[in-house]
Amino acid sequence: MGLLDEARELSIYTAYNTNVDAIVYLKEETVQGLINEFGAETIQRRMEEYPRQINEPLDFVARLVHALKTGKPMEVPLINEELHMWFDSHFKYDVERMGGQAGIIANLLANLNFRKVLVYTPHLAKKQAAMFVNKPNLFYPVIEDGRLIFKHPYEAYRDGDPVKVNRIFEFRAGMTFKLGSETVTVPFSGRFIVSARFESIRIYTEPGLKPFLPEIGESVDGVILSGYQGIKPRYSDGKDANHYLREAKKDILLLKREKDVKVHLEFASIQNRELRKKVIYNLFPLVDSVGMDESEIAHVLNALGYSKLSDRIFTYNRIEDTVLGGKILIDEMNLEVLQIHTIYYIVYITHADNPLSEEKLRQSLGLATNLAAARASLGEIRSPEDFKVGLSVPYNERGEYVKLRFEEAKRRLRTKEYRVVIIPTRLVKNPVSTVGLGDTISAGAFTSYLALLRRKGEL
Ligand code: AMP
Repeated sequence: MGLLDEARELSIYTAYNTNVDAIVYLKEETVQGLINEFGAETIQRRMEEYPRQINEPLDFVARLVHALKTGKPMEVPLINEELHMWFDSHFKYDVERMGGQAGIIANLLANLNFRKVLVYTPHLAKKQAAMFVNKPNLFYPVIEDGRLIFKHPYEAYRDGDPVKVNRIFEFRAGMTFKLGSETVTVPFSGRFIVSARFESIRIYTEPGLKPFLPEIGESVDGVILSGYQGIKPRYSDGKDANHYLREAKKDILLLKREKDVKVHLEFASIQNRELRKKVIYNLFPLVDSVGMDESEIAHVLNALGYSKLSDRIFTYNRIEDTVLGGKILIDEMNLEVLQIHTIYYIVYITHADNPLSEEKLRQSLGLATNLAAARASLGEIRSPEDFKVGLSVPYNERGEYVKLRFEEAKRRLRTKEYRVVIIPTRLVKNPVSTVGLGDTISAGAFTSYLALLRRKGEL
């Protein structure tokens, strides 16, 4: 039986973040229509003010026109919840798809026919629920008559729940439009993202569900948590990041209460350094496994006070620095396993007493990159058979070179106390999409790691 088949025997719980990515491929006439509607002069005045948030439609139009003029990719938060209607009446979305790590991972594992995929997201509007794949192994926890039951997310949606829609406006170089007397030609292709940052969107477990977390933890083989980057420093009702992180800690402890279920935290970049530090110090010590990419390890090290090492990783991207940073992190946070993915290689760093051999750890990373290559080739993984597509994608050559350099460096770095395993990635030349590839690597790595532990009788 292949490793993927073994991983598919597992049941996984994943939370918290989901959103809808609504994509608009911008047309010249749409942009011209907006300019005519709001008036060139009015827009130009607002462009000079350079609004940093979108509170009314004119803010959006001004920042969009600015992005088109410069051709630079931009992201601006939408803070006024009432603007949904305005956007939806002005644009037809060409594609709507699942966004957010928990949502992406739940759909991926469900499509791979995992035994049971339990997904929890605190806000489940009808539109969000409709983004989940229609698979019989996918469940959402619901409390009915004081009991915990499971339904397909689509059967569990709640009218009135807020929905986080990230609107992505894709533009192409060469588009032209008139802004008053000026003719604007878009210099580069790119995207303008209007990201929903509403007060009402929170990262937490509803109080009614919380007492059932031990039962959920006991019923699954692994837990994948993500979305902490969505916590805001403070909210208008007086709650703050400390509050939500205390609750997040309780969630992990509750999931582990009946059985020490393995928990993986998928880390995403957090701009605010204080918040980043809080997430690391509060949560890393409670989980078993952490996944991140190369720039995130640099950010993490910076927050932990290793600014020189962090700068080195940012500037030179040297594998020995990444590995050194990884060792520091697993020691300080006492993690069982840390997985770092970069464009050219993926690495596991564990302590030397990890139950899995280097060979087994390598197999797990191999599965992860196969899965990502399949997704990059196809845009999405719809069935276990799709996995095979990844096997025909060659390993990148730079990765081989990096691996060699690492073997040399290994002699210099003291690695006796650690197990460090690295593989080159299978890299797709013209990926259909790069959205969710990191999440795919982490989900593939963690679940196959669990499957290998189980094979050894360690799970
Ligand atoms: P993240 O930065 O977390 O979104 O993760 C992106 C990861 O996806 C990279 O570290 C690569 O390992 C992988 N990846 C990116 N582009 C490709 C590609 N074209 N083909 C296969 N894997 C890719």
